[in-house]
Amino acid sequence: MKNIIIFGAPGSGKGTYSDEIVKKYGMGHISTGDVLRAQIKAGTELGMTAKGYIDNGQLLPDSLMIDILADTYDNMPAGQGVIFDGFPRTIAQAEALKKMLAERKHDMGIMIELVVDEETLLARLLNRAIEQGRADDNEETIKKRFAVYHEQTSPLADWFEKEGMRNTVDWAENPSKEQMLAKVYDIIDKAN
Ligand code: AMP
Repeated sequence: MKNIIIFGAPGSGKGTYSDEIVKKYGMGHISTGDVLRAQIKAGTELGMTAKGYIDNGQLLPDSLMIDILADTYDNMPAGQGVIFDGFPRTIAQAEALKKMLAERKHDMGIMIELVVDEETLLARLLNRAIEQGRADDNEETIKKRFAVYHEQTSPLADWFEKEGMRNTVDWAENPSKEQMLAKVYDIIDKAN
């Protein structure tokens, strides 16, 4: 399986669709947000650093995230393909991922961009706050995360376009989880 970078705003469904892709294709899954939340739960030094950024809706420094990503990647089972969920979030992270994979003679694979309007995103995140109790799913932090997404992460879509990796699935055209997933599977099947 080719690697997949799942890309989109907070609440666009990256984690949800990644779980479905893992079930269907048996790939590895790296969610950098989950890695950080596990560190917070374990009370590590990294977790304490991460908490400050996450609770503020800010991104952790690129150099730290790049090290975490490389470590996590090197501990994944080889040869199954990996879904990168929540990484890269900046151009510097994308360049670092490209370099890291090239050094290992691995392919970057494909990028799947989930496009969802902001009103739907906000409603989903507020609902997730009730269901999962994530500390950063409150309205104030959500607004900051959207701003950070627009400033630092969304420009990456063009970066992937230039790499010839960009595939877009739009909620406006596929307004149900099933329809979104069908499109996502179609993209994955065509790429493999
Ligand atoms: P997520 O679960 O992907 O929404 O991530 C939750 C939070 O973890 C983000 O709002 C950031 O504070 C932090 N985070 C996760 N991935 C990254 C990354 N690639 N770069 C910087 N910060 C990250």
